[in-house]
Amino acid sequence: MRQSQLFTKTQKNAPKDEVSLNAQLLIRAGFINKEMAGVYAYLPLGLRVIEKIKEIIREEMNAICSQEIIMSSLQPKEVWQSTGRWDDKVVDVWFKSKLKNETEVGFGWSHEEPITEMMKRFLVSYKDFPVYVYQFQTKLRNELRAKSGIMRGREFVMKDLYSYDTDEKRHLKFYESVKNSYMNVFKRVGLGDITYVTFAAGGAFTKYSHEFQTVTEAGEDFIYINKEKNIAVNEEVLEDSVLKELGVSKNELTKVKSAEVGNIFNFGTSKCDDMNFFTTNEEGKKISIYLGSYGIGVTRLMGVIADHFADEKGLVWPETVAPFQIHLISLSKNEEAQNIYDDLVKNDVEALYDDREISAGEKFADSDLIGIPYRIVISKKSLENGGVEIKKRNEKESKIIKIEDIARELK
Ligand code: ATP
Ligand code: MG
Repeated sequence: MRQSQLFTKTQKNAPKDEVSLNAQLLIRAGFINKEMAGVYAYLPLGLRVIEKIKEIIREEMNAICSQEIIMSSLQPKEVWQSTGRWDDKVVDVWFKSKLKNETEVGFGWSHEEPITEMMKRFLVSYKDFPVYVYQFQTKLRNELRAKSGIMRGREFVMKDLYSYDTDEKRHLKFYESVKNSYMNVFKRVGLGDITYVTFAAGGAFTKYSHEFQTVTEAGEDFIYINKEKNIAVNEEVLEDSVLKELGVSKNELTKVKSAEVGNIFNFGTSKCDDMNFFTTNEEGKKISIYLGSYGIGVTRLMGVIADHFADEKGLVWPETVAPFQIHLISLSKNEEAQNIYDDLVKNDVEALYDDREISAGEKFADSDLIGIPYRIVISKKSLENGGVEIKKRNEKESKIIKIEDIARELK
């Protein structure tokens, strides 16, 4: 893409009321726009990052035989009443509204109940199980506070996956495979080293749930970790019984701040039982159905990545989620730059081409702020030295390479 055609512009300053680093940088670099507290629009650069993250998740979800769907945001009250979760005292983040005829409706903050209601239509015999479905969706939650930028939105993108099974063993096996897939996702976006499967409160259904917590000062949670043993416990369940089960003592654990990037939850048969969703076994006898619910905060994850890799000059995207792979900067109007750009496009290399007529200093500052992994500068000087100058965003040193070696260098 030509930068002269990108409608967004970089800014020196972020809005005064924006206190989080992730949103400050993303706003300044033109990835997002703040509509109001906790509500952001995703602009061309930001959308490209979201789509990259979604594609990684999608690959991992498809690899465990999940089918993609998309449910509605507008939801009927009745399905939530059947489990008691319409009540604002039980779920305190509801946004609700009314139809013209006074019928109450809710805006989806989660989807266990509507998906389960829908599945009643399709899953009638034990032969229809197991079924795994997932979606990417904008969730709406009336969060009390929204001070963490895109890490806590009142409107945010979540990937949620639901598993339905009649066989407990197979259900638990799937739960374990989701743990693996989720860790794959966090590794692929560059956060593998600092993300832990964390013991957390499980609510009424099971003793524990598992959260995926990324160690970061920007987070809102506290967890206790042991890196060598790869153990993490949310402070909310740091009790003797949990430590005993994990085989660690409290003095082997270090308290750190973290952000919950994912959460997996075993409902057992309780949710389907409550919703009167049963099926029949081989003998035609009525049996219960197990439900698992598994979420990844897509936009929160983007915020964590933005925050974690940033330096004093701006954003630093890992290659796997970067909006473009190359930032091509031409310091004099020249044919060479145009040819290189055309070549990159022809070879399906994602390049942002800064063809604007502004100073070199401004181009470099913008490039550092936007954080594309490779910067290629083409100037009179580089051409005299035999080619173009290439530099990684997270390294200081640049080097001169021949134009025909660009493709090889990127591999
Ligand atoms: P939290 O404790 O941070 O409020 P939660 O327990 O309410 O999270 P879940 O309902 O399990 O979160 O949602 C699944 C995932 O969606 C979370 O692990 C998190 O990554 C993400 N998420 C939850 N709330 C928000 C939010 N307000 N903004 C952005 N992402 C969110
Ligand atoms: Mg919450």
